[in-house]
Amino acid sequence: MMELKIQLIPTGEIILSPGKNGENHCHNCKVVASDGVRAMMESALTARDRVGVQDFVLLENYTSEAAFIENLRKRFKENLIYTYIGSVLVSVNPYKDLEIYTKNHMERYRGVNFYEVSPHIYAVADNSYRSMRTEGKDQCILISGESGAGKTEASKKILQYYAVTCPASEQVQTVKDRLLQSNPVLEAFGNAKTLRNDNSSRFGKYMDIQFDFKGAPVGGHIINYLLEKSRVVHQNHGERNFHIFYQLIEGGEEDLLRHLGLERNPQQYQYLIKGNCPKVSSINDRSDWKVVRKALTVIGFSENEVEELLNIIASVLHLGNVQYGGEDSNACITSDIQIKYLARLLGVNVSVLTEALTHKKIIAKGEELMSPLNLEQASSARDALAKAVYGRTFTWLVNKINASLTYTVYTLIHTVDNVFSSPFEQFCINYCNEKLQQLFIELTLKSEQDEYEAEGITWEPVQYFNNKIICDLVEEKFKGIISILDEECLRPGDASDLTFLEKLEDTVGGHAHFVTLQASVFFAPFATQRPLAFISLSPANHLSFIIFLCLPLQAATQFKASLAKLMEILMSKEPSYVRCIKPNDSKQSGRFDEVLIRHQVKYLGLMENLRVRRAGFAYRRRYEVFLQRYKSLCPGTWPNWDGKLSDGVSTLVKHLGYKPEEYKMGRSKIFIRFPKTLFATEDALET
Ligand code: ATP
Ligand code: MG
Repeated sequence: MMELKIQLIPTGEIILSPGKNGENHCHNCKVVASDGVRAMMESALTARDRVGVQDFVLLENYTSEAAFIENLRKRFKENLIYTYIGSVLVSVNPYKDLEIYTKNHMERYRGVNFYEVSPHIYAVADNSYRSMRTEGKDQCILISGESGAGKTEASKKILQYYAVTCPASEQVQTVKDRLLQSNPVLEAFGNAKTLRNDNSSRFGKYMDIQFDFKGAPVGGHIINYLLEKSRVVHQNHGERNFHIFYQLIEGGEEDLLRHLGLERNPQQYQYLIKGNCPKVSSINDRSDWKVVRKALTVIGFSENEVEELLNIIASVLHLGNVQYGGEDSNACITSDIQIKYLARLLGVNVSVLTEALTHKKIIAKGEELMSPLNLEQASSARDALAKAVYGRTFTWLVNKINASLTYTVYTLIHTVDNVFSSPFEQFCINYCNEKLQQLFIELTLKSEQDEYEAEGITWEPVQYFNNKIICDLVEEKFKGIISILDEECLRPGDASDLTFLEKLEDTVGGHAHFVTLQASVFFAPFATQRPLAFISLSPANHLSFIIFLCLPLQAATQFKASLAKLMEILMSKEPSYVRCIKPNDSKQSGRFDEVLIRHQVKYLGLMENLRVRRAGFAYRRRYEVFLQRYKSLCPGTWPNWDGKLSDGVSTLVKHLGYKPEEYKMGRSKIFIRFPKTLFATEDALET
């Protein structure tokens, strides 16, 4: 006969990861086994071995990368995709739907402390929200990771959490709906299928949510940066253009397509066939179209605005089909029908449009002249126009969404970073990540130091790799890589990959971290993409495009400036971090590719993070919480302790045989140096 007695221990807290019964399911239950269940308990004894620890600070061998990865693997196998490093959440993309995002789960994380429930993105969302409410401090949640790691999904989960759990009046409900609906719209226009991710965000996003004094979301603001415009005119093999084009063609109503002059076949459009991948099995363009159409209405786009928007999208497709012929030095347009559609959709005169697509404006002796383009230049001008039109439309769209989300008061933000295809964009993103990492380590150290100080515990300095040296290499005035790049691009004449490289060698060649930057590959795009034409169109409709093709050389400097602005914003808020990891390159559930994961653990600086977090004490807990959980282990403190809490904890740990070097007593918390001390105490509870 098997018999299980379950005795509830009244405790507010769940500590370590698995306990002995698996992941947190009955942590507030004390399970007392009689003889009959010995065998069962023995297998349960290995639960911690099976599911790992829920916080990496509890790893005995915390400096070992192998142990770190092993812990991730164990948890991943058990569908436990979330693990903490202190207050940082590490998330591994499961590539399958897990039943962990229900309303019940949301309720479970409301108002509870990190350690009371198993790690979850909702815990991070809830914690930020509560800090904002109780301390009145602006918060930010930073989500990072490579393409396909789950950043966008994480940000959506956070939004959903707020939408469900925050208080709401009727007016607030509108804001919640619009915040939620902004996602499908932004994804339709800013996401695309890439080799790495079927729904890859091809723009950087930074989003504010504003809350009123009651804690209700009353507004929002989105800043977008670096949309990958090159995708509008070219896609690598196996990749697609932005989703919206396929959604419109597959899902658009007959009348609409007729009005736009579009055929229901993506193969007809030059801008959609470069990647040879019109259909994606995980995507249903037709039903996504319906979702996007509805979302536009919820956000508050009028029918007219939607029509203008779709005119523009269709005009990009028509632009791609504009063909040139004629003499090589003097391109002329051979596809009349396209031009007619284009002129109508953009609301411009046919002759103005034709001239803009075949000529460039030059200024000679103070006079403006139109000079003909050759075939190659004309195709580039056409593509440049398509990219610019799309880019402007995207910005307009984001501005419209922002206008529909106006409000003020508190702020809570999250940012999503990105991975781009060109080496230059990759360089910008690497630089961005270095900056974020620098901020991250500094803030982690600082919060550790602050806590020790508040608790009156001596701070022991921690050695760590400060990547300021890498940031300087990139951004320093006059001698940083960006400065050199600017200088080379501005220099008239023979600037090239080679001269740029030579200059780099001269200036920063001796730098210890220089080799990692592969300079040669990213100058080329600058040299070849120098603008061919300055085109200005003043169409009759409201979107009013002024297309200015800015010199790409300013891109790096601009990026540096916007990054500095972002850092400034982030520094003024209290950060939380979500680090996303992609388990394999084949978008498959259940596959844990160790090499790939090790690379990300390095790249995200997770070991460094753990080292800083573990430098002093692995574990800290408020006296009342600690006492409540373990008081049954000591006759002196059971069933109730009437004296000072710290005295109770002292009595308890002395009874348990803690050695002086194993712990310290702070003002309101006990600090425990090694996980094994705590494990032993936890084990004692269950025997
Ligand atoms: P990119 O940088 O390319 O935009 P990303 O980090 O934003 O990538 P996501 O689009 O969030 O990546 O995730 C890629 C895919 O992985 C999702 O479309 C989804 O299929 C799956 N995925 C991510 N997170 C989860 C999750 N928590 N549960 C289930 N599936 C997920
Ligand atoms: Mg994304």
